[in-house]
Amino acid sequence: MRYQSTRGAAPELDFRDVTLAGLAKDGGLYVPVEWPRFSEADIAGLAGLSYVETAVRVMAPFVADSLSEAELRDLCAQAYGRFSHDAVTPLVQLDHRHFLLELFHGPTLAFKDVALQLLGLLFERFLKGTDQHLTIVGATSGDTGSAAIDAVAGREGIDIFMLHPHQRVSDVQRRQMTTVLAPNVHNIAIEGSFDDAQAMVKAMFNDADFAGRFQVTAVNSINWARLMAQVVYYFYAAVRLGAPHRAVAFSVPTGNFGDVFAGYVAARMGLPVAKLVVATNVNDILHRALSSGDYSTGTVTPTAAPSMDIQVSSNFERLLFDLAGRDGPALAEQMRGFEASRAMRLTNAQQQGAASLFASDRIDAGEMSQAMAWANSRAAELLDPHTAIGLAAARRANIAAEVPIVTLATAHPAKFRDPVERATGIRPTLPARIGDLFAREERYDVLPATFDAVTGYIAERAKPR
Ligand SMILES: *Cc1c(COP(=O)(O)O)cnc(C)c1O
Repeated sequence: MRYQSTRGAAPELDFRDVTLAGLAKDGGLYVPVEWPRFSEADIAGLAGLSYVETAVRVMAPFVADSLSEAELRDLCAQAYGRFSHDAVTPLVQLDHRHFLLELFHGPTLAFKDVALQLLGLLFERFLKGTDQHLTIVGATSGDTGSAAIDAVAGREGIDIFMLHPHQRVSDVQRRQMTTVLAPNVHNIAIEGSFDDAQAMVKAMFNDADFAGRFQVTAVNSINWARLMAQVVYYFYAAVRLGAPHRAVAFSVPTGNFGDVFAGYVAARMGLPVAKLVVATNVNDILHRALSSGDYSTGTVTPTAAPSMDIQVSSNFERLLFDLAGRDGPALAEQMRGFEASRAMRLTNAQQQGAASLFASDRIDAGEMSQAMAWANSRAAELLDPHTAIGLAAARRANIAAEVPIVTLATAHPAKFRDPVERATGIRPTLPARIGDLFAREERYDVLPATFDAVTGYIAERAKPR
């Protein structure tokens, strides 16, 4: 498979290079030049397959020029062997039509493990036998940092530098990062906010001197390989609920539009998806864009679901590109306008294209708590805040009664104990596999929030390209 940039001015790459590159050189995001198509018979053939076998079938067309099927199977077996549930992403039934797809059985208890565990192995595989060295730099407000660190800790040819805002992440979140003591893991607490940390990371990618000395790459969901890995669980769940003979709807708690874009890819590949519900919290730019075409940023309101507290959803660009005739230069111009004014209108083609598959909703704090209470009282299930927002939107969505609705459960409730306890009266316990988190040794350095301090720190420790 070849990959092209959404802005039309970067070279086409194969899967290996797209994985190592992350962002395209023209500022765009990589997408496959065409969507592989699965026939009804292909989808029917997934029935009864394990998660790993499903993953091999679904991802094979995307990686074909860079990995053999046997190599892909080996990497998937390693990545998903670390999950604590045999089904990897099990389905749980809440009532006659609502289901949860539990994506939090990986090592760091959030759905980001599903993609990052594989991405870490892909990096290592693609660097092996070369003299290339990868320097991963990222900023995190919580889940991404721990999932990325766990995925690359101890892997050859890779160093990871993860910035988090000092004393502004929860104890569980910090310890999930700072108790990983592998020598290639570097945790930096910035004396500033998450936005300061993120701005510094962006500046490093754009700094010709720094980016020239080190092969820096990103692990956020602009990386195509992450989205690809997430397509798998849409197939896995839908097949268990009757696909290809029955259509299924999904409700997705959405931040950067990565997870729900993977659902869109599954639909483009032929999976019968009746609806994709984009669930947002009060930071509702995506709900406004999908319901009225208004994609304009405001200020971020902190909520109990921090992974959805966003202003700009990077992956939305991939959808706009695919919906409007894949016209790179036109999209580049639309995005330049957006970057200048922080606002844009979707074109008619974009709006109408999205309306056939997507619905959206905005869920406030009270509605989120009600969804937690409902799931607890009706099905004895504890939901984390992100999942509760997805379920609240699913229950309000206008979807034909015969269609099962699957809400993606993106984090374990124990990662967010206070809001869960407030809504249900029950304090979730940390699973045994990370139960000694508070007894482990921590290691991290505190740095001032200045570009020179941070790049100096990284330059002393990273290996040149
Ligand atoms: C990252 C995250 C999300 C948002 O996913 P996107 O792919 O950014 O839309 C939702 N819930 C949790 C728990 C997350 O960690």
